Amino acid sequence: MSAEPLSPDGPAGPGPTSPGRAGRAPRRLAPVRAVPPPPTTPIVRSGRHAAPDDTPGEPANEAPAPAPTPRPRPTPAPTTHAETAEQHAARRVRQTWTEVEPHADEHADWFAALLFSLAPEVRALFPARVTEPARRLLRSLVLPMSTVDRPGELRPMLEPLVHEHRALGLRAEQYEVLGVALIGAMRRFARSWDDATEHAWVRAFSLAAGPMEQAVRAAAAPAVAEGTVVGHRRLSWDLAVLHVAPDAPVPHRAGQYLTVEIPQRPRMWRPLSPATAPRPDGLLEFHVRAVEGGWVSRAMVAHAAPGDRWRLGPPAGRLGLDPRSTREVLMVAGGTGGAPVLALCEDMARWARPRPCTVFVGGRVPEDLTVLDRLQELAEQHPWLGVAAVCEDDPLDERSQPGTLPDAVVRGGDWSRHDVLLSGSPGMIRATASALLVDGVSLDRITYDPFTD
Ligand SMILES: Cc1cc2nc3c(=O)[nH]c(=O)nc-3n(C[C@H](O)[C@H](O)[C@H](O)COP(=O)(O)OP(=O)(O)OC[C@H]3O[C@@H](n4cnc5c(N)ncnc54)[C@H](O)[C@@H]3O)c2cc1C
Repeated sequence: MSAEPLSPDGPAGPGPTSPGRAGRAPRRLAPVRAVPPPPTTPIVRSGRHAAPDDTPGEPANEAPAPAPTPRPRPTPAPTTHAETAEQHAARRVRQTWTEVEPHADEHADWFAALLFSLAPEVRALFPARVTEPARRLLRSLVLPMSTVDRPGELRPMLEPLVHEHRALGLRAEQYEVLGVALIGAMRRFARSWDDATEHAWVRAFSLAAGPMEQAVRAAAAPAVAEGTVVGHRRLSWDLAVLHVAPDAPVPHRAGQYLTVEIPQRPRMWRPLSPATAPRPDGLLEFHVRAVEGGWVSRAMVAHAAPGDRWRLGPPAGRLGLDPRSTREVLMVAGGTGGAPVLALCEDMARWARPRPCTVFVGGRVPEDLTVLDRLQELAEQHPWLGVAAVCEDDPLDERSQPGTLPDAVVRGGDWSRHDVLLSGSPGMIRATASALLVDGVSLDRITYDPFTD
């Protein structure tokens, strides 16, 4: 994956060799059921987990206690009459979250300190430096809380978060202390915190964490599998292809990702997308880009070696194709975002009736196009597949056209009747989705898993 987002402003190139485009009626989205009502029991229960006050007695381990700085408390924006309780809760969560963002690291340390003081056993799930994983965990709680007013967005968001929490080792009964620690840390850092805000946060937490707790409780499959690195090939200083042989095949669909933990960076789980469709022998191929200052990706590229034992969390993710549909498909992938796209194309090659599909892969330099050769081989064998490559910084590369992905895609055809899958950095996804929306593609036809934490 490109460490920098692909710019939407580059020169345009020619379009791909695309299969024919038969016009068909747009798909209707299934009706969305409402989120179940919150439990009547508040997350802060008297006696058991008392809500921590602003100065926990023993902040756990190395998480430092923030200096007590009195802050003015602005009046919260009033609730409009038309608002539902869920809308009010989500709006207050979004508003107060922006107040703590400038203190994100301190806030995460404070949250971790509260969490470890309430549930010391959770400390063992975190690496020595808690700030970054605590920030990830906080985001994974607050993101669904800020979406409780939009059940259609909330529901698909919860599944991958539950998988991450399970891979981390969190148990269902620990959601309550997560909520207590989260709200305790918010109370300390949010300028406009008051009783009404606390009520809104408790409500939003119940609505978002209730289903996650139930899913963790109900999960039957083991949260973590293990596998051995059997291949490590470095393509450039910051790119590597790795092969991992799981002890038993990890049941997953093409296009999904797995969260992985490597021995060089214990307890720092990261999502990675296999570049291969599920195989009978279970072998997984990963394409990894070392991001600047990246803890795990740099270790994967520079230090992973055959024989390493990796832990593999349960699969998750939105990228996938319905074999019952006959609608044409557009896939756009930036950098290592090509991995799940290759897996999906390999998978479709096994179908009785593959869907006509056009793939654009892009990168800054030709080495970034790690899946291009294999996609081109597939395209030579299968007339339903068309492939185009785009390279930003090497206009002389013979295999690709110069320019940026969004530009090349929009100039490459009319995609308004296609199902669109985007894969890559958040910047590339934002730019490509915006260009496609302006070009007449409807938002409910676009699916993506941005490569961000
Ligand atoms: C669904 C999904 C699938 C993914 N699949 C792959 C994959 O197949 N191959 C792959 O190489 N990566 C993939 N990623 C990204 C990967 O999970 C890590 O986020 C990435 O490797 C950085 O981790 P790190 O520990 O090295 O960086 P961190 O130590 O977490 O972060 C270091 C710095 O890098 C920035 N950063 C974090 N992630 C990225 C990113 N993706 N791009 C640019 N800057 C970043 C951070 O903001 C921070 O400033 C995927 C991510 C998601 C969400």
